[in-house]
Amino acid sequence: MGINPRHSVLFEPIKIGPVTLPNRFYQVPHCTGMGHALPRTLAAMRGMKAEGGWGVVCTEYCSLHPTSDDQPFPFASMWDDGDMANLAAMADAVHAHGALAGIELWHGGSYVANLASRQPSIGVRSMPSREDPVQSRRMDKADLRAFRTWHLAAAQRAKAAGFDIIYVYPSHGYLVSEFLSRSLNERTDEYGGSLVNRMRLFRELLEATRSAVGDRCAVAARFAANGHGEEHLSVEEARDLLGLIGHLPDLWDLVIDDYYEEMGSSRFYSEGHLEGRIAYARALTGKPVVSVGRFTSPDTMVRQIKSGVLDLIGAARPSIADPFLPKKIREGRYEDIRECIGCNICYAYNYRGSAIRCTQNPTMGEEWRRGWHPERVPTGASGTVLVIGAGPAGLEAAHILGKRGYTVTLADAAKEAGGRVSRESRLPGLREWSRVRDYRLQQLAKLPNVSLYLDNRLTAAQVREFGADDVMLATGARWRRNGLGRSCPVPIEFPAEALVLTPDDLMDGRVPAGAVLLYDDDNYYLGPVLALLLARQGARVCYVTSAPRAGEWSKYTGEQDRTQRQMLEAGILIRCNETLAAFDGHAAALHCIYTGNAAVQAASALVLVTSREPNDALYYELVGSAGVESGARILRIGDCLQPSIIAAAVYSGHKAARELGSIAPSAALRDRVQIQK
Ligand code: ADP
Ligand code: SF4
Repeated sequence: MGINPRHSVLFEPIKIGPVTLPNRFYQVPHCTGMGHALPRTLAAMRGMKAEGGWGVVCTEYCSLHPTSDDQPFPFASMWDDGDMANLAAMADAVHAHGALAGIELWHGGSYVANLASRQPSIGVRSMPSREDPVQSRRMDKADLRAFRTWHLAAAQRAKAAGFDIIYVYPSHGYLVSEFLSRSLNERTDEYGGSLVNRMRLFRELLEATRSAVGDRCAVAARFAANGHGEEHLSVEEARDLLGLIGHLPDLWDLVIDDYYEEMGSSRFYSEGHLEGRIAYARALTGKPVVSVGRFTSPDTMVRQIKSGVLDLIGAARPSIADPFLPKKIREGRYEDIRECIGCNICYAYNYRGSAIRCTQNPTMGEEWRRGWHPERVPTGASGTVLVIGAGPAGLEAAHILGKRGYTVTLADAAKEAGGRVSRESRLPGLREWSRVRDYRLQQLAKLPNVSLYLDNRLTAAQVREFGADDVMLATGARWRRNGLGRSCPVPIEFPAEALVLTPDDLMDGRVPAGAVLLYDDDNYYLGPVLALLLARQGARVCYVTSAPRAGEWSKYTGEQDRTQRQMLEAGILIRCNETLAAFDGHAAALHCIYTGNAAVQAASALVLVTSREPNDALYYELVGSAGVESGARILRIGDCLQPSIIAAAVYSGHKAARELGSIAPSAALRDRVQIQK
């Protein structure tokens, strides 16, 4: 099928300044956890997006000088000729597929602590860094002059490296936005006071960048259309600014002031949620506008363009989940689109200082290291494979095995496919997670060599009798009922009459009423989400966590504050820094993690969200307790091998299926600096 005329507007070339974009698909700057540290990995990953049809592919935040060093986060850098050569590899990889390369020059200002460079950070006034006991140095006129020189030098290097679009970045609390701030900027000279003065530095950077590189490169500005909060830059001032200098850049990349709302997870925000705050800017500036909104629906994209909100469809996550999204739309292959589920796992791993990964796209970040392509797998395989369990691991494995040419039987004990994804996506806020299942079921439906048998619990005897050449066990894991977990290495014994439930019980519909204590020692999303389910069904919920805040790990996905707010608004009592010691059916004994002091919390039911037990009994029946059986080719994948996040289960299924039958499973390359002899 060819391009649907309804969507053809998405494939029109667009001119911005001196460059012409091949289409309207624009990968905005996004973190990768690769940055300056993994240049080959980065170039291959960005190149893959260009191959998939993105008309523009940008870097992540790219430091322009050592006074802006975001260690331990793997930011990109354009400090010297070495950086220039590494980023040129990215620009080349993007150009190889006819796309344009953009670079987001960034200075963190007071926000960064410069842990690696050990240079004093600089700011409009001396302010504490985000996390460390470090304050910035107040910039004087000489610093301003130096800063403009660094920005210019970085822009010139970016041009020499082959970049086509060069950013000025006055938002998200970084250096240039400090100058815009009414409260941070106390200067009494021409850089402080009135809006015109506060935006002087921004204006100078736009003008200098344009005159230095504007003959060949477009200049883009990334700006929060709703201002930076009343105390910094009000919505009205943001409008005034766009009215005054809207004509200066070639492109406005519009964001909003709250980063965690901008890249809002699907638990809290829906597709296109920024529209109301950015829609005004295009008419005001008369310049092309790009913005994001977790766009995966071509109809929504077209509507944003036709209604005059956007000229370019900005995407970070949709391009991560499906680097081939534009090509699939162009070819009318809508059912092949791997839609982002809005879980923000991609962002979390940058925050953890490691390379990006994605729940939906297991090849993300593996393009260079393992040579994985998101759309191609080795074909021509023969033989039969039995995959047991149709959760994310089993579905992904069956799908990839099927594409490779194996004859695949996928069996699941449940009446529906999807395993934990189907069960969890019925919980509050997790509906979009069902896309993990739906994409794979759609792919399986196209593969006549894969058969799916639901409502089929297999025993070891049946597996042996089936006689497949290879067996993959994707039987998942179940939540423990004995309190075992991070904070509790010894099982807790509960009296038989006490109502002690697990997340599996709740997902099976056993939702207790009355006073319920939910104990969270897992500390990601499930505890808070189940607490919400209980509260919405009328229980009086006390949420107890061993962590300092509710759903602590979700700080990495940018969801922690919303999580806690949502729970408080639902009337849930939150108790932090306490572990569970006992529960007798009427009250729980809790211990303070610092003092060990005991406290009592009345409850008639206890829900334990602590840790999981792999469902590996069938595996050991098949391979024997020693773990091996000669001649058997039996593999565990997903949670059955290692309980983890859904992204890990998909990855595990993908890797096993891609590598099945290989003589040497793909040895991963290592991207690192090597000493030259
Ligand atoms: P993962 O995240 O690793 O994919 P899930 O828990 O989501 O794991 O899925 C495991 C699936 O395995 C569930 O749908 C479950 O019904 C199925 N399952 C477990 N044991 C058996 C079995 N013996 N036979 C068939 N299916 C099974
Ligand atoms: Fe989307 Fe989640 Fe993948 Fe990020 S990790 S791109 S949010 S599916």
